[in-house]
Amino acid sequence: MRETMRKKLIAANWKMHKTPNEAQQYVSALLPLVHDHHHREIVLCPSYVCIPATVQAVHGKKIGVGGQNLFWEKDGAYTGEISAQMLHAAGCSHVIIGHSERRQYFDETNTKVHQKLKAALKSGLSPIVCVGEVLEERESGLTNDVLEKQCIIAFGSLSAAEVAPMVVAYEPVWAIGTGKTATPDMASEAHRFIRAQAAKAFGEEAAKKLRILYGGSVKPDNAKALMSHEEIDGALVGSASLDAESFAKIVGY
Ligand code: PEP
Repeated sequence: MRETMRKKLIAANWKMHKTPNEAQQYVSALLPLVHDHHHREIVLCPSYVCIPATVQAVHGKKIGVGGQNLFWEKDGAYTGEISAQMLHAAGCSHVIIGHSERRQYFDETNTKVHQKLKAALKSGLSPIVCVGEVLEERESGLTNDVLEKQCIIAFGSLSAAEVAPMVVAYEPVWAIGTGKTATPDMASEAHRFIRAQAAKAFGEEAAKKLRILYGGSVKPDNAKALMSHEEIDGALVGSASLDAESFAKIVGY
């Protein structure tokens, strides 16, 4: 399979923003702007309470909806948590796992990321697994060590067939919400390294098919340079995804 056959995926991470009404209004504004987006796959990741409104609003429009997190148990006494099965039943097709904000504020370790990845795959969700180094690690030349560890532990002993729906997002933590973006060359180098980890874990064929998104201050004015790079299979977009027009511009590149 040629690398160029990987369809680019643009995912919006709304984080803790928007009410159900705002989610509906956003989708109404977005739909006419992306009606000819067939060369891209679009996924919106709202907060849990906005999932039903978003699923309803995108119905029949080939736009996926994803959770921003999950807990690996199916159900039980886990106050405040939500399972992969629940996300799936609510109409989600995707789920973000291991976002750096969850690693930073909610003690999400690589081992937890692995458990969540397994739970998502078992429930038929396409996981978007986030990896990336903090500034100190990049400046100390540790980027590859960090990425290698994150990938090895997250992937565990899952098979190529099991991880077929998985997407990885390379999100250098120093670029998230800071306005600093990795250059396309920096991102591509990291993507090649992540793909090499996937090849070690799942084999060359599976690694070639794996989509690796870039995330970290993607905006309409830098999206084109990033998206036109062969190694960059799309974007996970935070703040610039909150506005339908700005997100649609990124989808359009
Ligand atoms: C993110 O939250 O995944 C992200 C990349 O945020 P931002 O685009 O705001 O940097």
